[in-house]
Amino acid sequence: MSESVIQYGSVANPDYTALLSDLTAVFVSGKTRSLAWRRMQLEAVERMMNEREGDLFDALQSDLGKSPMESFTTETAYVSGDAAHCRKNLNRWTRKRRVFTPIVGQPGKSWVQPEPLGVVLIIGAWNYPVQLTLAGMSAAIAAGNCVVIKPSELAPAASALLTQLVPEYLDSDCIKVIDGAVPETTALLEQPFDHILYTGGGSVGRIVMAAAAKHLTPVTLELGGKSPCIVLPDANLETTARRIAWGKFSNAGQICIAPDHILTDADTEALLVPLLEKVIREMFGDDPQQSDSYGRIVNDRHFERVSRLIDSGHIALGGQVDAADRYIAPTVLTDVATDSPVMQEEIFGPVLPIVRAENLEDAIAHIRGGDKPLAAYIFTNDKSAQNQFLENVSCGNACVNDVMMFMAVHELPFGGVGQSGMGAYSGRRGFETFSHMKAVMKRGWWPDLAVRYAPYTEKKFKFLRKIR
Ligand code: NAD
Repeated sequence: MSESVIQYGSVANPDYTALLSDLTAVFVSGKTRSLAWRRMQLEAVERMMNEREGDLFDALQSDLGKSPMESFTTETAYVSGDAAHCRKNLNRWTRKRRVFTPIVGQPGKSWVQPEPLGVVLIIGAWNYPVQLTLAGMSAAIAAGNCVVIKPSELAPAASALLTQLVPEYLDSDCIKVIDGAVPETTALLEQPFDHILYTGGGSVGRIVMAAAAKHLTPVTLELGGKSPCIVLPDANLETTARRIAWGKFSNAGQICIAPDHILTDADTEALLVPLLEKVIREMFGDDPQQSDSYGRIVNDRHFERVSRLIDSGHIALGGQVDAADRYIAPTVLTDVATDSPVMQEEIFGPVLPIVRAENLEDAIAHIRGGDKPLAAYIFTNDKSAQNQFLENVSCGNACVNDVMMFMAVHELPFGGVGQSGMGAYSGRRGFETFSHMKAVMKRGWWPDLAVRYAPYTEKKFKFLRKIR
C-alpha cells in the first residue's frame, strides 16, 4: 500500500493524532530546516508539474472541463513558476535581516531571523484544485515546514491524482495529502497545527477559524466575494470588453477574482454590450458549448445555483443552459436591480450583470456599501479617477485597466481584506506567512553601563532623558 492511501482512524471516524505526532517528530528532527532539503522539494514540485502535465490536464478536464491551455497557465505552469521563484529566492528570504540598534542597545546587534512554524495544514478549494493546494505548499516548504494538504472533494479527479503524485515526487515523511471530504477536514481541524491556510467560502472559513482558535493556531483565510469592475466612458472599450470577458468566462466564471459585475453608465453600457458579444464570439465561437476553450460548472448544485441567477435581469447575451452537460453559456445581464438575487451573493459562474452607476462616485459608493471585495477593477485612462478608485476602495488586490493579471506577479502578495479574507501569500509574502520572523538581539559584554540598574537615582534619570 502506498503512503498516499494510509488510513488514519477508521473510514467513518478519521483521527489524525498519529499523523500530526509523526510529522511533528520529523519537524523536530530538523530535516525540513535544511536549505538543501527545501531546494530539492521545490525542484520536485517543478518536475511533477512538467512530467505529469498530461495527467493533471486530464484530471482538470474531467473535474471542470478545463482546457489544457487554461490548465497550463493557471495551474501547472503557475505552480512550477511559483516553486521556481521560491527556490531561486531561498537564500535571500532565509537570510537574517539586520536592523538598526539604537544607542541604548550598544554595544549590540539586532536582526530578524525567519524560522519555520512546524506542521502546517493547507485546505484547498475546487476551482483551481492544483494551484490552490500546491502554491501554498511551495511557500510552506520554502519556509521549512512539514505540510498536510487537503484538496477539495468537489474536484475528485484532481484530489485523487494529487494524493498519488505528491508522495511519488516529494518527501512523504514530511508532506502528506489527505484525499477526503468534510469528515476528514473536520477531523484534521481537531489537531493543533502550527498554521492553517484555508481557501474557500466564508461560511466554512468561520468553521476553520473557530476550530483553529481552540489551539490558538494562526490562520490565513483566502475567501471570496463580489469583485466589482468599474468601466468609465473614456476607456478603450474593445480591449476592456476582451479583458473582462476573459476574466469572467475563463473556467466558466468559477474564479474567486473574476470580475463579478460591471458598474458603468447607460451610454457606456450601450457600447460595451455589442463589444462583449463580439469578443465572446471570437473566443468561443457561435456556440460556446461546442468550444474546447469553454469550461463547465463543477457540479449539479452549483449549476442550479448559477442558473437561477440568470433571471435577475434582462438577458442581453447568452442565457442558454444545459443541465445534462452542466453548461451555462457566457451570459450578460442588463437592467439589473441592486437588490436582485444576482447582486446578493458571489456569482462564481459565467453570468455577468451590468449595474448602472452614472459616474465614478456612484460606483465607489456602491462598492463601499458592500463587503470589502477580494479584487476590484477599474478601466479608465484618467489618472485622477484611477487614484480616486485606489484611495477609496478597500479590497484585497486591485488592477487598473485589466483584470486578474496581478496573479502573474509572484512578488505581489495575494489575499483578501475584511470578509474576503485575512493574511496573504505568494512570493516572499508566502514565505513570511509560513515563517515566524523571530526578533533577535545580541549584546556585547562591555561597557555594561550602570545607568539602567537600580538604585534609580536622579542623576541616572537625567542621563536617560538626555539620550532617549
Ligand atoms: P469547497 O466546497 O471546495 O470547500 C473548500 C474546502 O473546505 C474543501 O477542502 C472542503 O473539504 C472544506 N469543507 C467544506 N465544508 C466543510 C465543513 N463543513 N467543515 C470543514 N471543512 C469543510 O470550496 P467552496 O467553499 O465552494 O469555494 C468557493 C469559494 O472559495 C468562493 O467563495 C471563492 O471565491 C473562494 N475562493 C477563494 C480563493 C482565494 O484565493 N481567495 C480561491 C478560490 C476560491
